[in-house]
Amino acid sequence: NNTNKTVLVTGCAGFIGSNFVPYFLEKYENYNIVNLDLLTYAGNLENLSECEGNERYKFIKGDICNRELVEFIFNEYDIHGVIHFASESHVDNSIKNPGVFVQTNVNGTFTLLDVAYKQWMQKPFTKKEAYQNCRFHHISTDEVYGTLSDDPKELFRETTPYAPNSPYSASKASSDMIVRSYVETYGMDCVITNCSNNYGPKQHDEKLIPTIIRNALQGNPIPIYGDGKNIRDWLYVLDHCKGIDIVYHTGKTGEVYNIGGRNERTNLQIVDRICTILDQQVPKEKSYKELITFVEDRAGHDRRYAIDATKLENELLWRADENFESGIVKTIEWYLEKY
Ligand code: NAD
Repeated sequence: NNTNKTVLVTGCAGFIGSNFVPYFLEKYENYNIVNLDLLTYAGNLENLSECEGNERYKFIKGDICNRELVEFIFNEYDIHGVIHFASESHVDNSIKNPGVFVQTNVNGTFTLLDVAYKQWMQKPFTKKEAYQNCRFHHISTDEVYGTLSDDPKELFRETTPYAPNSPYSASKASSDMIVRSYVETYGMDCVITNCSNNYGPKQHDEKLIPTIIRNALQGNPIPIYGDGKNIRDWLYVLDHCKGIDIVYHTGKTGEVYNIGGRNERTNLQIVDRICTILDQQVPKEKSYKELITFVEDRAGHDRRYAIDATKLENELLWRADENFESGIVKTIEWYLEKY
């Protein structure tokens, strides 16, 4: 549609992007989306099958580090906004192979940002006006803040100093800083959201919750790192997408917003809850809990993450719609179809 504004959304064949795109296309008829995704092992176009045939959606296979391609996309589709999901996202992979994390997460983010800056802000004055309200939304993680003690009063706030511990979180922290510098130095309209752990449909098999459900259903050992007492703050993926929507449209330029569901759980509580639900829904002779197996801890494993989302809740009126109970039931139902 020619009168629509076109948003470049990167990395949509992955978990969160593929939940975001159908939500966004349905909610806003005045947007077109161009999805730039390299289709690494983590990307799967089947995740977006519901968008096939939608004339407001276009997929381009390619690397966010490829400057020529990114420039071509900005010109060809007259891009008026960027929502940037594309990333290497698995901490375990970053321990084995950190280089690709620096390449995609740092250099890739820089390439997108720099092309956007040149397209939107370095045009001659007359053209510049057309690009006045173009925004770059960088999707990041709470892992940039490092780890917390078990004291429940300690929470990640937007003011918490960065202290990333894995090559993954360090590469995300670096990309956040580069985005920040384009705000401070060039006055670019960027926003950053740092979100806690997501769960829900379409997550890659490698991540904790799909790993638990898959192994349980297949009768294999369910691996849990260390003592299983690491705490994560879980958010249903669509609640993250709604938070991004709100920040993209109403967040203040240059601001950072934390997104989290106030759902702290140890890994053991997660596996226990999933096994209990599976025991009810697909009962076997023995409880799935007997499959739980403790394995050697992840190197540098952060102990606890927990987000204080007060800023997003108070300033932009975001609320999570799902609590962990309702979200995990929906999630399990989806994986029961898949596995
Ligand atoms: P994912 O690994 O499921 O998907 C990443 C997508 O990016 C894949 O489709 C992949 O093909 C694509 N991609 C990777 N490298 C690329 C490149 N060089 N060029 C173009 N595309 C490339 O990740 P996800 O879980 O959907 O996470 C999306 C974003 O959200 C990431 O930036 C991540 O840091 C952030 N985040 C994730 C979580 C979570 O719990 N999953 C939490 C907070 C923040």
